Amino acid sequence: MIDLLSFEEALEKFDPALGLEVHVELNTASKMFCGCPTEFGAEPNTQVCPTCLGLPGAMPVVNRVAVESAMRIGLALNCEIAEWCRFARKNYFYPDMPKNFQTSQYDEPIAFEGYLDVDVDGESFRIEIERAHMEEDTGKSLHVGGATGRIHGSDYSLVDYNRAGIPLIEIVTKPIKGTRDQAPEIAKAYVAQLRELIVALGVSDARMDQGSIRADVNLSLSPAGDGALGTRTETKNVNSLRSVERAVRYEMRRHAAILDGGGSILQETRHWHEDTGITTSGREKSDAEDYRYFPEPDLVPVAPSREWVEELRGTLPEPPRVRRSRLQADWGFSDLEMRDTVGAGALGLVEETVASGASPQAARKWWLSEMARRANDAGVEITDLGVTPAQVAEVQRLVDAGSLNDKLARQVFDGLLAGEGTPGEIVAARDLAIVSDDVALGAAVDNAIAANPDVADKIRDGKVAAAGALIGAVMKEMRGQADAGRVRELILEKLS
Ligand SMILES: [Zn+2]
Repeated sequence: MIDLLSFEEALEKFDPALGLEVHVELNTASKMFCGCPTEFGAEPNTQVCPTCLGLPGAMPVVNRVAVESAMRIGLALNCEIAEWCRFARKNYFYPDMPKNFQTSQYDEPIAFEGYLDVDVDGESFRIEIERAHMEEDTGKSLHVGGATGRIHGSDYSLVDYNRAGIPLIEIVTKPIKGTRDQAPEIAKAYVAQLRELIVALGVSDARMDQGSIRADVNLSLSPAGDGALGTRTETKNVNSLRSVERAVRYEMRRHAAILDGGGSILQETRHWHEDTGITTSGREKSDAEDYRYFPEPDLVPVAPSREWVEELRGTLPEPPRVRRSRLQADWGFSDLEMRDTVGAGALGLVEETVASGASPQAARKWWLSEMARRANDAGVEITDLGVTPAQVAEVQRLVDAGSLNDKLARQVFDGLLAGEGTPGEIVAARDLAIVSDDVALGAAVDNAIAANPDVADKIRDGKVAAAGALIGAVMKEMRGQADAGRVRELILEKLS
């Protein structure tokens, strides 16, 4: 195991350059070149046909909706849309790719020369897009037996071709330079804001945990101030936003340690290990890998008319940056509040919670404190926690109505995560509702006064601030479920 350089030392000596390749699995009803369904999680090998299994004589046909989605992604990324382009065969053998070639695009991508402006710590950073091209996904191998789930040491392997032929868009950036110490954050912000854009376009489920968005992170270092590009490594399939940031940071420190010790970087793919936060060597990869690309002879070229392109441009959603400014103004959030909300990946969640009736501040409070903490504890993205914006709004409605306080609301969230039903059902089943009935409260207040005669005397002498101690005693007796405002009124009435 290599001794890493510290992040600070790595930056003193070297400049990072990033390159990000993001695969987006489209949510079309059928596959890229056949009519097979695309539903996630179906029984293995039930969504296949001669075309996606690559049987002899099968003829592919391009999915029109997939082409439209590709063009809309390209347009949203400020790309040019090709007037004429073809698919190409990328030839290599892999067991989960039954045709022994992948139908992709090579030197004629559908979209090229674009950019995405991402916000990082309140500042905008432009990421240039080299290309967005169409291709198909592979199947999935499952290695059974070994300890690691990898082919090495396994007893046998199974292949599921349901995913083979699902449409993918690969979005490739140009080398991203000048990021310096922000490289990890910028990489994460790019993937997060690209994902936000994909969600707004409605072209993909955009679930990183299910692999419908997958990021490959390229990184190289060059001597500080040198300006040239160093040898890069490509860390594959980094499947959460947090991991994107961690993988960049780790590779920067690893490259720096090797270069600083006089070594050279091996151009290779790397595997990211979520649990240990490190990368390990994959396979060597040269720039001139020979995939023997050639134009796909079974598919006609894609030549979208300019009218079609303009029609699709008219369907683009509000750009994410414009949306963020609009929401910030609507909600009255400070720059810091907005930055934290975006940084937590909670913008859409807060928006939906507000749409379900909560105030913006209440929505922000729950998502950024309680939900962010729980997601972090569970090691999942906040969007995958399993609590919906409508549920958060409902809990807040109960707080506003005086039926719950924040402390009790947290117990309702425990119940929601445990699948115990709706907020109302959980309040009833766990007996969480606040008690505001004077008979029950009055008895507890009497007990508190009897147990704290000195405090009671102070209040009788006009030191109203001392009431806090008695309210605390009542709360304790009533397991936090007393209506604090009413308790205070009763104490002051009894002691006046
Ligand atoms: Zn098929």
